[in-house]
Amino acid sequence: MPLPLGHAAIGLTTYEVCSKSESVFHRWKVILFVVILANLPDIDVILGLLFRGNGSVFHRGPTHSLFFALLMGFVASIAWKCWSQIPRLGFGKCFLLTFSHVVADLFLTASEVSLFWPFEVNWTTGYCGWGDILGTVFLQAFQDIGIIIGCIVIMIIKQLVRKSSRRWNPYWPFYRPAFDISSIRLIGRRKR
Ligand SMILES: [Zn+2]
Repeated sequence: MPLPLGHAAIGLTTYEVCSKSESVFHRWKVILFVVILANLPDIDVILGLLFRGNGSVFHRGPTHSLFFALLMGFVASIAWKCWSQIPRLGFGKCFLLTFSHVVADLFLTASEVSLFWPFEVNWTTGYCGWGDILGTVFLQAFQDIGIIIGCIVIMIIKQLVRKSSRRWNPYWPFYRPAFDISSIRLIGRRKR
């Protein structure tokens, strides 16, 4: 059952697997942005608590859908235009990070999601207050240990593949100067 820590691990792994060159762990702002996007669909719990005093009332509804992931993928990909501190990630990555939450909930939990909302909707039933949420987040995080270990293994494999593909690529020494020059140009543009 993925909790915020588990969803964060799945999001970071999704970024690592999708990213060809740069690791997610190079910039803390990217780590934070990835963790937020990977947990974004559970904002319905906060909304339920704030407006109805019950975290279950809106849970697993529209925010746990393909449509929400597409919408938030687009919004997150242009958010840097509003605030320069937000990392600049492409639409595909932002979509996959948000959608990773929906997929994880779909396959790793017993409750339904609303994958094709507005054509289907599967609200969670029952009551969930602030105490239940805080207890789940802080005291039951150990339940995700299997997911976290699995994600760490995948990320280590990806790091090794990334390093070995550079080390053993016979053309790397020839195109490396060109790569370095383009990096310098990018840095120069940022400074201006
Ligand atoms: Zn969820």
